Order: sequence, then C-alpha cells, then structure tokens
Amino acid sequence: MISSESVTGKELYALVERLFPIHRSIAGPGVRATFDVLEETVPLKRTEIPTGTKVFDWLVPQEWSIQDAFIADATGRRVVDYSASNLHVVNHSQPVCETMNWQALKPHVHTCEERPEAIPYRTGYFRDCWGFCVTAAQFEELALGGPWQVVIDSNFYDGSLSLAECHIEGESDETFLLYAHTCHPSLANDNLSGISIAAHLAKWLLSQPRRYSYRVVFAPATIGAISWLAQQDAAQLRQIKSGLVLSLLGDSADLSFKQAEQEDCYTNRLVPLVLSSLGVAHRTIPFAPFGYDERQFASPGIQLPVGRLCRSEFGEFPEYHTSDDDLHFVTPEHLEQSFRVCQAIIEANEGNTYPLSLQPMGEPNLARHDLYRAFGERDDRGQLQKAMMWILNQADGSRDLATIAKRSKLSLFELIEAAQILEQHALLKLANKPQNLKLHEFQ
Ligand code: ZN
Repeated sequence: MISSESVTGKELYALVERLFPIHRSIAGPGVRATFDVLEETVPLKRTEIPTGTKVFDWLVPQEWSIQDAFIADATGRRVVDYSASNLHVVNHSQPVCETMNWQALKPHVHTCEERPEAIPYRTGYFRDCWGFCVTAAQFEELALGGPWQVVIDSNFYDGSLSLAECHIEGESDETFLLYAHTCHPSLANDNLSGISIAAHLAKWLLSQPRRYSYRVVFAPATIGAISWLAQQDAAQLRQIKSGLVLSLLGDSADLSFKQAEQEDCYTNRLVPLVLSSLGVAHRTIPFAPFGYDERQFASPGIQLPVGRLCRSEFGEFPEYHTSDDDLHFVTPEHLEQSFRVCQAIIEANEGNTYPLSLQPMGEPNLARHDLYRAFGERDDRGQLQKAMMWILNQADGSRDLATIAKRSKLSLFELIEAAQILEQHALLKLANKPQNLKLHEFQ
C-alpha cells in the first residue's frame, strides 16, 4: 500500500482562495486562467476543442468573455455592478447596452427568494438570453426607480473549449478516473473544493509508486465531460474500472457517496467499504440521472462505473448556487478531511487485488508456513488471523479483496494487510485482475 503523507487543509484552501475570483464559464479565458493556476500544482495535458466541433449530440459553443456590466441610474450611479461580484451577470449573457424602464428590465432580473441577501447564480448556456442576478434589496431599489441604463459588455467569438488532464500511469493500465468540473465562477464549494482536492490528489499520486493508473480530469460541466468522452477511444474507456466525480467537498456536512449506475460495480463496493472502515459519518445515495457529470459517464453508450463523492448533496443546501457559497462556507478542516478520505479510497484501490491461494487443497498449515510468528507481536492477533482465514478460504482468484471485505464484514484495510503478509509467506499470489485456479497443479 502507498503511504499517506501529504497536503494540509491550509494548502487546499489556499488553492480555492486563489481560484475564487476567476470568472469561469463553459468556454473562454476563465477556464484557461484556472488551468494556468492548477499547473503550478500539477502538470496538465491541455486540449482545445474548436468551436463548432460536433461532440456526440452537441456542438462545442463559442467562447464567452465579459469586460463589464452594470445597471445604473440617470446620474451614472451603479445599483448593480459586475465588479462587486461576477455572479451579478447571468453566465453566458448576450451583450446589452440600452436604457429601459423597470417593466422592460424586470424579466431579466433574478433574486433568490429563500436567501434574500444572497445573489443567485444563473446561467444562460445554449440559449440566447441576458440577465442580472441581484439581492432582494437591489431588486426593490430597481423596482422603485428608472429609467435604468443597462450594460453587459460581453463577447461571443469562435475559439475553443478547454479540457485538462493529468494522466498518471501505474504498473497496470486499469484506471481510476477522478473528475472535477471547472465552469463555475466565484463559488467555493461548487466546485473549487473538488478542483483543489483533485489537483492535490494528482500531485500526491505522482509522488507514489502505483499499481494502477489514474486519470484526473478538469473540464466544464456537461459539454466538457461530453467533449472529453468524445475524445476517448473505446479501449481507453474500457480501461476505466472505477471513478469518482469530486464536488462539494469543503463544507461541514457529512460525506455522501452517490453510487455509480451499475449497482454491483467495483466503485459501489469500494467506496462504502472505505468510508465504513474509516468510521467517518456518511450516507450512500442511489444513482439517479441528475446532478453532476456522473450522468454522462453512466449514459447507455458509455457505462463507466463512476460515482460521486460530496459532503452536502447537489442542490440540497441553502447556499447552493448563491453568493453564500463563498470562502466562508468552505473550511480548511473539511477540505482536509475530504482529501484524506479520497486518499484512503485510492490507497484501498491500490491494495485491492485478486488473491489466488497457492495451497488451495484444504486449509493451509499456518504453523508450517511460520505464520504464528507473524501474529506473535500483534495486539490485533485475533483480527489478523480472522482476516487471513477469510482470504485463504475465498482465494480462488475470482474474487477481489473488496468482495471478501463485503462478505466477511472485515475492514478492507485489515484484509489488504493480511493478504500482503500471506503473499510474503508464499501462500498467495496477488494479481491486478481475476485469475484462474488450476486445480491440476495442486493434485
Ligand atoms: Zn453547480
């Protein structure tokens, strides 16, 4: 198994803080600026997919950029000002420069009824629209005044959609996918928390010996995931044996694991086993085709076993998609705890193997293989022996340790350790893939 020294919550938070002011959208300078910052932490292979490229059922959109936006009164006083928060402008707004009364402006102004002091986050992707997002107080002020000078100085232009990836090869090409979306502007939990954790996981993985391979992907939501998938050939996709979308990992809620679509897949066995073994409070949520990009990975032509790890759930917390999802809403402590859990999932993945018994005819004689000495100095001797007995019993090569952990209700980490000791004592062969027990070799 790989070791666990690594990043602090402070460092994870510092990256969130650094990326927070950047105005991201699905395609344009904000995503590239984000990748520039991430490259200080981890090497990235960047891909640009030109505007108009067909990706499955979609077309890559034009880039969008914005210089300024405001709603001002006749004296030029700005009641709503983009420079105060990039959430004030509906992401992907068409340009506007008009003077209009409140009745004409009102359909373009959005507030958050449940949180009147917050600015909601709205997008206008894949439709021609424009709009402003404001607090309830700003809305009232606009309703009482006018005519208003309304300006959105934005541009749409042919360019490209940006994807970035850190591909970390291991001994085996069997791959674990980590995916974070990169299209949200100044929102901390959704999804700078996931971006920071994914980047630091990639950095840590690069410093470790690895049995398996990892692909850490940063891309805008939906169109980015679809564009990334469209770039992969079938063989590359089939190498992905597990994966997680990482999002909403910096707030104080308990962890939540959303299952991958294929109910009995490896991801759905591995992640709950790790969370239970660690003893962290968590809940498991069944798959549904809503939420983040886990639904792209689960589409019928793709069918990758990719789940999702969050703390608060998608759309279920009051700060979700509002200006209250800010740098106070995420903490170094919770980012660090989430990071450690991700690290443990990867360590469990690294230690998970298919054991094949080298003494499969009846129970092996543990004394003859000097195993009682291995138990000798252990406080958890009984537990270790139990783990070994389960593994030796189940080691026909077709079952991995995660399967044995689920059946035995033992900790996956105990089983990984026990399997390694048994391998050292020549009682097991541990392989990355299922193996065949050839009984004639033992007659
Ligand atoms: Zn979101």
